[in-house]
Amino acid sequence: MTPNKEDYLKAIYKLGGMETLVNNKQIADTLQIAPASVTEMLGKLKREGLIHYEAYKGSRLTSEGIGAAISLVRGHRLWEVFLMRHLGYSWSEAHEDAELLEHITPPRLIARLDQFLNHPAYCPHGSAIPRSDGQVDCMPLQPLNLLFVGEASRIRRVTEEKGLLDYLQGLGVTIGASVRIVEAGAHEGPLTLDLDGKRVQISYKAACQIYVDETARL
Ligand SMILES: [Zn+2]
Repeated sequence: MTPNKEDYLKAIYKLGGMETLVNNKQIADTLQIAPASVTEMLGKLKREGLIHYEAYKGSRLTSEGIGAAISLVRGHRLWEVFLMRHLGYSWSEAHEDAELLEHITPPRLIARLDQFLNHPAYCPHGSAIPRSDGQVDCMPLQPLNLLFVGEASRIRRVTEEKGLLDYLQGLGVTIGASVRIVEAGAHEGPLTLDLDGKRVQISYKAACQIYVDETARL
């Protein structure tokens, strides 16, 4: 499926486009498409008043663009909470279907969903849910692979990508779990973890996509 206008807004938002200029290559990489198609869509978003776009520099969201992006991200993450909490969805299933639902969820439904779920602050994958005024919780995190052997922390967030989510859920990785590096294979080999008291082996690549508290020492 080719990314639509809303996917662009979301990508620019996630790349920091509320405050800073995001360049075309970052957007192309995020959406996994050719830079040429990015240029075309950005022109359209600019004409619709959703972004400020400067050629060769990048794009930043206008206040209208910010509002639209926040509403998409809020809808997405609230649906994920709902699908997992009430319909027994897996990590990756929730992300997949929320990807569809976010595009058809009117503001009223987002507000009701938020209320029904008792205003959750995070999605099931640990990403902060922006509040309706756009405020977002922010915790200093670092990728798990940066911990030293013997060092412990707590898992706070994982990257939302289907294959990775299925792999991690299969290993029993959960948000909030305590984690300690028991052993690290040479040359970016697999990591042996103590995960809530259980020994688990995980690929180095996956460890780069798991985010833990920066300073916690358990
Ligand atoms: Zn999520």
